[in-house]
Amino acid sequence: MADFEGFKTLGFIGLGAMGRPMLEHLANKLPEGSRLWVYDVVERVLDEVCAAYPNRVLKGTSAADVATHVDTILTMVPEGSHVRSVYLDPRNGICSTNISNKMLIDCSTIDTATNLEVKDHIAEHFPSASFYDSPVSGGVVGAIKGTIAIFLGCAETDPKFPQLTQLMELMGKEVIPCGGPSLGLAAKLSNNYLSGIIAIACSEAFDMGMRSGLDPRTLAKVYAAGTAQNTICDKFCPVPHVYPDAPSSGGWKQGFKVQLMRKDFGLAVEMAKRVGSKNVLGDVGLETYNGAANDPRCRDLDSRVVYRYLGGQEDWQSESGHS
Ligand code: NAD
Repeated sequence: MADFEGFKTLGFIGLGAMGRPMLEHLANKLPEGSRLWVYDVVERVLDEVCAAYPNRVLKGTSAADVATHVDTILTMVPEGSHVRSVYLDPRNGICSTNISNKMLIDCSTIDTATNLEVKDHIAEHFPSASFYDSPVSGGVVGAIKGTIAIFLGCAETDPKFPQLTQLMELMGKEVIPCGGPSLGLAAKLSNNYLSGIIAIACSEAFDMGMRSGLDPRTLAKVYAAGTAQNTICDKFCPVPHVYPDAPSSGGWKQGFKVQLMRKDFGLAVEMAKRVGSKNVLGDVGLETYNGAANDPRCRDLDSRVVYRYLGGQEDWQSESGHS
């Protein structure tokens, strides 16, 4: 097994809801001699993490500054425009310094076109550098617990795969090589498309059953035993109080924000169009998540709040006489 030889100096850019706990896993788990250089446009966050890990986590003044100090860089920023700026800004971007031989890993969930644009730029200007897409799944709770799944944009035969796996396993549970550049992102977007569609279908199916007189707990049993069985029903049931641990039972306060689902769903529909994949549910799904993300009753809540957006009964226990 490798000994983290390649990770004596590591950079982390973007210390938000996901990036910060991921950085903290690295700071806690890499060997003592490793140094982590960090950068975020929000200075307060930088000061906090540097103070929490004195002499271990060091403050960079820009993405380019971080790149001059380290051999490996992880980035975790919101959207394609931020990724473009972090890598390609001519004054402060990573690629404005000499990044020959460095390994760059972008964990952001963005469009595959921007990812490939950055990859092509790096391949043209720094052929010895390597750039990977590596989006993650599992939410903020997963990032804190270190249980996120990681979808790597490379083949299992990639010479850097063992090194990448070793690094990513410090932050997550499962690392899945998806085959090649931008395919980690394609996998993540198609997963979130499917999960988003299932949540809508699940909400509608519960609603029609409940309005016909069925107890949602009976419906949940039926789906679990029948051909409709799926994780959204079983673990993220959109109907409140069917399962106490589902986000809906806590008022959808914990979970994957509906605005993030809207973003990922939109990226998936865009990708589908670009590659010529026909999807009859794409536009209607996007319209639904657009509506839910802009609805003050749903905004900032777990995406399965789409059940509320679609008019599902929430206080079914009192309304129907069930207890
Ligand atoms: P966030 O908004 O909490 O954090 C993003 C961080 O990036 C912020 O601290 C911001 O200041 C920083 N940033 C923005 N532009 C920058 C720049 N040019 N230079 C340096 N720093 C910059 O977002 P998040 O929830 O951590 O999500 C990050 C990515 O992970 C997104 O693409 C998101 O879709 C994806 N993701 C999020 C979740 C989730 O549940 N939050 C789950 C899986 C994947």
